[in-house]
Amino acid sequence: MKSARITGPNEPLAVSSTETPKPQGNQVLVKVKSVGVCHSDLHLWEGGYDLGDGQFMKVTDRGVKYPVTPGHEIVGVVEDFGADASGISKGDEVLVFPWVGCGECPACEVGDENLCDAPKSLGVFQDGGYSDYAMIPNSKYLAKLDGVNSDTATSLACSGLTAYTAIKKSNQNSPEFLVIVGAGGLGLMGVQIAKAITKAKIICVDLDDQKLETAKEMGADFTINSKDPETAKKILSICNNKGADSVVDFVNAPPTAKLDFAVLRKRGNLILVGLFGGSIELSLVTIPLKSIMIQGAYTGNYHDMVELLDLARKGIINPVISKRYALDDANTALEDLKARKIIGRAVINP
Ligand code: NAD
Ligand code: ZN
Repeated sequence: MKSARITGPNEPLAVSSTETPKPQGNQVLVKVKSVGVCHSDLHLWEGGYDLGDGQFMKVTDRGVKYPVTPGHEIVGVVEDFGADASGISKGDEVLVFPWVGCGECPACEVGDENLCDAPKSLGVFQDGGYSDYAMIPNSKYLAKLDGVNSDTATSLACSGLTAYTAIKKSNQNSPEFLVIVGAGGLGLMGVQIAKAITKAKIICVDLDDQKLETAKEMGADFTINSKDPETAKKILSICNNKGADSVVDFVNAPPTAKLDFAVLRKRGNLILVGLFGGSIELSLVTIPLKSIMIQGAYTGNYHDMVELLDLARKGIINPVISKRYALDDANTALEDLKARKIIGRAVINP
């Protein structure tokens, strides 16, 4: 099999060929048709996360071992499976749930493998889908596409799923005004999902006018380019000068986090999702006085991924796939994402 692998931080991905493995036990070998290029692949490629104040969290300190094949938004066709795999047949088109957990910790026990204490996520801690074949540890991590387009389905394993988790959290206080920060792969899914499952008026913020234009087409009621120094003021004025009931930040860097706190109303609900990173100073007294809630959201569980597939099948959500690359061009795909050239998602078709 042929894979594009990260050999070390910021090293060009190396395309290498190895013998295609034979699935054993519960394993399933999937022939990859399409794999989404997520900004998290960029963090993995860069070697970690910016913690702020000059600190950096290395992915190798979190258990990543190079070389690793990235790619956690995998769609493919069942090629072969071990004797204990069940519920699948050769030729099935499937979406892979990549957030594989240990199966034993409290999160895994309630079905939230994405929040596992010892994660084994595909494309992060184990080889993923920048490859013509991917080995899936168990058939229980597959969901049949049943008619959903294979390129668009990739988004439902991470960008769609994460946005779904985050928007559900943002909807806990039935927001009248919901601010979505970032109109990239995650943010555009967030806008579509918010339109589908909340009653909120959606205000979308990004630095890029073209992305904001797409956000409008996806259902954003208002868009603001945050290069405008009056951004916070404009948001407050849209929200009747009271502030937004919920803010979902798909960037989560110092400038956006400061904006989040500036526009969040009393009793507001802030959900931080992005991993751009950094740190900010918080005025502590405003948190109790405004009685705000701050939550993190990390990917989502298998059950939600299946719900999302159903929403896609019904045409209620339709992920934006704007660019397709060959496996040999995986480096270009990552560079283009880094240079903010991608609207919605790019996919690699190995
Ligand atoms: P992307 O590159 O597709 O989109 C990022 C968007 O943010 C772009 O539209 C860009 O213009 C915008 N942006 C960047 N800086 C900004 C700023 N200062 N103000 C306003 N807009 C700004 O990335 P993505 O795939 O959507 O991922 C977004 C982030 O979420 C990444 O850090 C990624 O690693 C992270 N992520 C988190 C989870 C999770 O479970 N929490 C899951 C997947 C990805
Ligand atoms: Zn992702």
